[in-house]
Amino acid sequence: MSKQKKGLNTICTHVGEIKDKQFKGAVSPMFLSSSYEFLDVDVKRYPRYFNTPNQEYLSKKIAALEHTEAAMIFGSGMAAISTMFLAFLQKGDHLVVQNTLYGGTVNFIQEEFPKYGIEYTFTNGYSVEDFESAIQSNTKLIHIETPSNPLMTVTDIRGISKLAKSKSILTSIDNTFASPVNQNPIDLGIDMVMHSATKYFGGHSDICAGAVASTREHMERIWNVGKNLGGSLSDMTVWLLERSMKTLGLRVKTQTKNAMKLAKWLEKHPKISKVYYPGLKTHPEHQLAKSQMHGFGAMLSFELTKDLDAYKFQKNLKLIKSSMSLAGIESTVISPHLTSHALLTEAERQAVGISDQLIRFSVGIEEVKDLKRDINKTINKLLKKQEMAV
Ligand SMILES: *Cc1c(COP(=O)(O)O)cnc(C)c1O
Repeated sequence: MSKQKKGLNTICTHVGEIKDKQFKGAVSPMFLSSSYEFLDVDVKRYPRYFNTPNQEYLSKKIAALEHTEAAMIFGSGMAAISTMFLAFLQKGDHLVVQNTLYGGTVNFIQEEFPKYGIEYTFTNGYSVEDFESAIQSNTKLIHIETPSNPLMTVTDIRGISKLAKSKSILTSIDNTFASPVNQNPIDLGIDMVMHSATKYFGGHSDICAGAVASTREHMERIWNVGKNLGGSLSDMTVWLLERSMKTLGLRVKTQTKNAMKLAKWLEKHPKISKVYYPGLKTHPEHQLAKSQMHGFGAMLSFELTKDLDAYKFQKNLKLIKSSMSLAGIESTVISPHLTSHALLTEAERQAVGISDQLIRFSVGIEEVKDLKRDINKTINKLLKKQEMAV
């Protein structure tokens, strides 16, 4: 085989296939053994060692997609991130972490780090200066998330990598929202990339999984902690994840194209007061996003005008589902003030820019015209109801 890099959809379809030598089937066989021979073998295989055939081979696909030497698959995105953090942080160490972050990651840091004696600082903002001013003499890791949830802020990946390298600090990124289709942080200097594979990797809202990709050296450190924490994924689900990932490029590219069209349309819509999408020229970090992403992703947020109720809007949508999770092939919405940010006070929500009118939109693969019609019909219905109530 030539050393030339394969293209995205070829990697998605073929890298990490297990050849079915016995029957010559077209897809990877599923190996469900939890017990493997241990005499005279090079690799002691065991599911919790992350090295069953299906785990080992699918990791190759993820590593190829993220341009790393190695990768590991976990039972959830949180298993991936917690194992990664605990592999590089110990008692007395300090983590600098972005203020706008997935809620589960915030909970893990706030609830578990004190038990381990690990210190942390949430940045005040997401500029490189905000990260720099949070660094301490014992800082060992900087963790970022871009684009972030739910306002799609964009962090300067190159800037953070450069800052960290100048101080010999490691960097990690939650690349879930962009996916490797739209963003390859390793090429921009980041050390470790993690994913909630529950989202775009799975893509059909039927798998819970996670992944980390990095150098062989870093992955070995993560493996050493991972085998103790035990967050491996069952091989049946690993197999399903492989099946899903074959269409990762196709799905995410279509979803990204749809999101761009919808963001432009929503921006002009008289009943939408604001749209948050890095692909729009009005997004404050549009130029930065352009310089570090291949595409702007398929997540966006928008604010309904004050006369429309966000809860009723979601309830009346027909095609677009109201759903907690994201990144499936079906379009879904949530209202952050009722879900991810429900525990904050109104004042706290306002401080982080989450209004009651805000809707987060995970754009699917449906035809854009059908999605537009669903939104328009719903808005018209709500407006008509209001007229009748007057
Ligand atoms: C969902 C999500 C996670 C957590 O992943 P799980 O698979 O639910 O454990 C982490 N980061 C981001 C950005 C997510 O959207």
